[in-house]
Amino acid sequence: MGQINFLAESLRQLKKAAVLSQTTAIFNRLKKPQKVIKFNLPLKLDDGQTKNFWCARIQNNNSLGPYKGGLRYHPQIDLDEMKSLALFMTLKSAVIGLPFGGAKGGIKVDPKKLSLKELERLTRIFTRRLAHFIGPQKDIPAPDVNTNPTIMAWIADEYGKIIKNKKKALAVVTGKPVGKGGSQGRKEATADGGFYVLKELLKKIGWKKKNFRVLIQGFGNVGYNLAEILFKNGFKIIGLADSRNEIIDKKGFDPAHIMQIKKSRGLIDGFYCRASVCDHDEKWHRHLLKNKILEHPADILIPCALENVITKKNAHRIKAKIILEMANGAITPKALNILHKRKIIVVPDILANAGGVTVSYFEWQQNLTNKYWSKEKVLKKLGQMMRRAFAQVWQTAKKYKTDLKTAAYILALEKIKKNINK
Ligand code: NAD
Repeated sequence: MGQINFLAESLRQLKKAAVLSQTTAIFNRLKKPQKVIKFNLPLKLDDGQTKNFWCARIQNNNSLGPYKGGLRYHPQIDLDEMKSLALFMTLKSAVIGLPFGGAKGGIKVDPKKLSLKELERLTRIFTRRLAHFIGPQKDIPAPDVNTNPTIMAWIADEYGKIIKNKKKALAVVTGKPVGKGGSQGRKEATADGGFYVLKELLKKIGWKKKNFRVLIQGFGNVGYNLAEILFKNGFKIIGLADSRNEIIDKKGFDPAHIMQIKKSRGLIDGFYCRASVCDHDEKWHRHLLKNKILEHPADILIPCALENVITKKNAHRIKAKIILEMANGAITPKALNILHKRKIIVVPDILANAGGVTVSYFEWQQNLTNKYWSKEKVLKKLGQMMRRAFAQVWQTAKKYKTDLKTAAYILALEKIKKNINK
C-alpha cells in the first residue's frame, strides 16, 4: 500500500473515531499540521565540494504542550509520511497523558554516505536553521530512523551555543546519552512500556496460564528488548525474525543466546553443531519463508519491525489471539477491520509503543529541574503511566463498544477537546 493511501485510510479511521465521539472539530484541526518548515541546507563535504540537503520539520498540533517527535535521516523521506507521523505523535502523547503535542522531521540524506565529521556538521547547521522553531517549551525533537543519542547530544550542544546556556539547552532534545542529560532506562523504555500494557491486557481478559507462545518480528531495539523481558517473565518465544531470517522453535528461544549468535555470526539463524554438541536443538528449529512468522500458530504476535506488514491480504491467516502492535502502523486499517471481526485483540501502536516518548518526557522533566532519577524511579513512573493509559483505553472501548485502536483515537481526541475547552 502506498503511503498516501495509508495516510488517507488512517485519516478515515480517525474520522470514524471522531464521529463516534462527536469530536469532528478536533479531527479537522489535527488533520493538517499547524506548521510545515522546509528548507535546503548546503553542506561543505570533506573533499571541499558543497552538497544540498532537503530538510523538514512538521509541527502537527500543540494544544496539549510543546511539539514532540523524532528526527529521521533517510534518503527516502516523504512529506506526507512525516505529516501522518506528526499527527500520530499528537495522538500518542494525548493517549498517555503527556503535556506534549506532535511533530516529526528529518533530513533527506543517507547517513552511511557521510563521514562522522560531515554528519556532525550537517546536524549542527540543521540545528542552527531550526533554532528559531525549537526549544524546551516550543518543540522538542528526539531520535528516529538513523538518528541516535550522539546526534541528539550534538543538537543540544549547538542549541546551547545559540542560547548561550548549555544547561538550559539540554531540554531542547530528548534521547541524549546518559551523562549528557539523557535518562536512565530510555533504551529499553519502548519495550518496557509494551510489556506493561500486555500484562494489563492479560489480566483484563483473564489469561492466567504461563508459557504463552510468542512470535516477534524484528530483532532490533524494540524486538530484542521485549523478547528479553518476556523470556525472563516466563513467556515462550517460539518465533523470531529480523530482516534476513525467520526462525521458529516450539520449545522456545533464549533471546540473549540468539543475540549472541547474531553478533558473532551476523545472522539470527547462525546455529552450528560441533561434534555432538549443537548450540540449538536442530530437531525443532526451522526456517520460515519471509513474513510467514506472522501467520504461524501462537498466542501473541508482536510486530516490531516495519509498517504495513499485516494487510487485508494476510489478516485472515493470522492465528495469534493477541497482537501487540509495537511497530508504528504495522497493521493497515483494512486489516484491522478483519482482525476485529475475527475477535483478535489488537493493542494499538499509539498505546503499545508509547513507552519511549513517555521516558522522553521524564528526560525533559529531569533536564528542566536538573534532578536526575534512578532507573527504578523511571520504571515505576513508566509503569504507572502505561497502566493508567491502558485502563482508560479499555474503558473507552467498552463505552463505545469498539476496538482498542478506535478507542485510543477517541480517548486522544476527547483529551485534546477537553484541554481546548478549558
Ligand atoms: P531497529 O532498527 O532497532 O530494529 C528493526 C528490526 O527490524 C531489525 O532487527 C531489522 O532486522 C528488522 N527488520 C527489518 N525489516 C524486516 C523484515 N522485513 N522482516 C523482519 N524483520 C525486519 O528499530 P526499533 O527501534 O526496534 O523500531 C522498530 C519499530 O518500533 C519501528 O516501527 C519503530 O518506529 C517503532 N518504535 C520504536 C521506538 C523506539 O524507541 N525504538 C519507539 C516507538 C516506536
